[in-house]
Amino acid sequence: MRQGKDLGANFFWPLAVLAIFVIGLLVAVGIALVGEFDIAAKQREESIVNNGIAGRVDEIASSVLPQLVWDDAVRHLDNSFDLHWATDNIGTYLNKTSGFDDVFVLDGRDSPIFAASGGTVVPNGRIAPYAAYARSLIGKVRAQEKKRGRLPAVPPPNGVLAKPIQSSTIGRVHGQLAVVVATLIEPDFGTARPRGDRAPIALTAMYIDDDFLKAFADRFLLRNVHVHRGNKMFEKPLAHAPLIDIHGDYVATLEWSPENPGRKLLDQIALPIVNIVAFLAVFVGILYRRSRRMAQGLIASEARAAHMAYHDALTGLPNRTLFFDRLGHALDQMKRNGRPLAVHCIDLDRFKEINDTFGHNVGDELIQAAAHRMAQQCRSSETFARLSGDEFAIVQSDASSASAATLAARLCQVMAEPFNLSAGRVFVGCSVGISITQNADVDAGELLRQADLALYRSKREAKGHFCFFEEEMDAAVKTRRSLEADLRDALARDELQMVYQPQVNGRGLMTGVEALVRWQHPTRGEISPAFFVPIAEQSSLIMALGLFTLRRAFADSRRWPNLKVAVNVSANQIRMKDFVATIGELVEEMKVDPRRFELELTEGVLLRDDPDTQHSLRQLRNLGFSLTLDDFGTGYSSLSYLQRYPISKIKIDRSFIANLGVDAEAEAVVSAIVKLARALKLAVIAEGVETSDQLDSLTAAGCSDVQGYLFSRPIAGSGIDQLYKKRRTSLNRIVSTEQCRPTTGLATAA
Ligand code: C2E
Ligand code: CA
Ligand code: CA
Repeated sequence: MRQGKDLGANFFWPLAVLAIFVIGLLVAVGIALVGEFDIAAKQREESIVNNGIAGRVDEIASSVLPQLVWDDAVRHLDNSFDLHWATDNIGTYLNKTSGFDDVFVLDGRDSPIFAASGGTVVPNGRIAPYAAYARSLIGKVRAQEKKRGRLPAVPPPNGVLAKPIQSSTIGRVHGQLAVVVATLIEPDFGTARPRGDRAPIALTAMYIDDDFLKAFADRFLLRNVHVHRGNKMFEKPLAHAPLIDIHGDYVATLEWSPENPGRKLLDQIALPIVNIVAFLAVFVGILYRRSRRMAQGLIASEARAAHMAYHDALTGLPNRTLFFDRLGHALDQMKRNGRPLAVHCIDLDRFKEINDTFGHNVGDELIQAAAHRMAQQCRSSETFARLSGDEFAIVQSDASSASAATLAARLCQVMAEPFNLSAGRVFVGCSVGISITQNADVDAGELLRQADLALYRSKREAKGHFCFFEEEMDAAVKTRRSLEADLRDALARDELQMVYQPQVNGRGLMTGVEALVRWQHPTRGEISPAFFVPIAEQSSLIMALGLFTLRRAFADSRRWPNLKVAVNVSANQIRMKDFVATIGELVEEMKVDPRRFELELTEGVLLRDDPDTQHSLRQLRNLGFSLTLDDFGTGYSSLSYLQRYPISKIKIDRSFIANLGVDAEAEAVVSAIVKLARALKLAVIAEGVETSDQLDSLTAAGCSDVQGYLFSRPIAGSGIDQLYKKRRTSLNRIVSTEQCRPTTGLATAA
């Protein structure tokens, strides 16, 4: 999980920082662009206003021309001075019509001859505040007048005599801002002509008051217009236009709030942009959380998958893959340091029985408990792995024979302790095979194979102990393989034989026989069924072997109509799907009466408490066969089998019989078994009876049916034929020394 977070953060933070950086950059660029845009817009506004001011001044200047460039004005102000005319047409008219506040007329020598303020005549001295501007303005007008020279005699067609001569400025007069204009008073059509070389000049002033400003602002759509005295051009965020007088001095600064279209646009789009960014942030956040969760899930499942690839799901132990990986490393290490390496192969002794009896859940529980118990015996330097089912293995580096034996013995010891499972207390035990090597050439697979061979040996010898691998074990395996092939051939060539061992009752009469298979190997001589039957069971040969046995027993039995014939049936045989059908067909084919046959089963068959086995056994029983529980006392000997399955007889294992007279416990066990059989209304027979003492003990215990060398070894069918003929002869206890040869004096129950 932690890794998941890290990975999420690894992806997210650089992206988030990048996104924030990009957004920040865009915002900064946007703001900068808006600023630039607004500055450009302001500059344009300022230049328009500048031109506007100049234009307005020109307009004001032009507005006096009809009154001052006029033949009448020359006549009344220059040729002779007419105060009345001047008052009406200049003082009052220019005030009322054009809005001029102060009007002065100066003669050819620039002396004031008329003054009006607010439309009424005032003393000429009122010109004094204008002195500075008047001087400059008049200077310019006179210069132009002089430059132009004399007026033409007549005006050109559709025109006036000459272009008007004017000079204007913005200025400050007694604290009041004003537009001051000096205009040369001249004729327009020439009906009157100036008296001298220098014409009179009118000095007109219009105050820039609030109305003036408002009209100006309305014309140029300016907001918050103010006028500041002097130069205030530097007052940044606002727009400015300088009002500069004829001397080049800053008279005032016109100031207004610029349009700022960029800012306006920004204001309009800011909220939607903020909303979009917020929405995107939320969206990205959700996306991030989702993807982080997905990434975490992926990482977790990847880690799980990786763990599962190398670990066993049930126990959490390293699995076969990891085991081989560690074994490979251990081998490399051994090659470097030369210290021996041991591999232990461990198999639970009775796992299969417990699994079959109690079911897989209990089996799993047992595996977990066993794994836990064994793991505690291992050092951290040792790899303890589960290879399959109930098979475990250990890689032990730096091992000696002694340390390997110690570990294996410890495992056997702890595993011999009972396990308390949900199904109850069970004894399991384990067997261990050890392969120890210092040989640099041996590979991992070979080491495990050797340990496995040793395990196989240790299981065969006696369960619950350990065995080291020895070279000849390899040979044993090879022998098994070649025997399997030979057995297949022998079955195909019908080279196996059946022998029969008599079973006698308390009166010494032969009541039945047990059919036992024999194999005379062409080179190895006679091979015990105790050896080759398991080989057949572990391969697919058991079906053919079983069929052979039954077919022969069925055929031979015809000769002894009064004898019961016991046939051994192996567990794997019963589990074959078509076993019951096959045996049924055989009964039909050979026309035998199944009631004459006892099928001998070991507990291994019953242990597999599945409905199929139960069903098969019942079908066999229904066909007429009776079922005997063979080797009774060696397995679980669970009473529940006897009740659950249609068993009619139990056969006391020969290990108990052999101990009769030797071990008091054996006697007790035998008598208990007999009592049990009686209680359950089961027949009971003892096998492996070799001595009269054993027979006496059995008789004393209440078991009268017996089978053993005391009466006869297993013999050929022809031997049984002979005994069957003499069946009325009374019984002698003879231990046959020659197998397969009829014994004398054995009677058959009629
Ligand atoms: P089992 O069914 O317990 O057979 C009894 C074994 O005890 C036989 O060994 C028999 O020869 C031996 N035996 C009989 N009386 C005495 C005695 O007084 N003392 C001693 N020490 N042994 C005695 P055998 O024939 O070698 O068979 C060994 C096992 O092989 C059988 O044990 C049975 O499990 C299996 N087997 C034999 N024949 C067949 C067969 O036809 N089918 C199957 N499925 N298994 C068979
Ligand atoms: Ca048997
Ligand atoms: Ca037996």
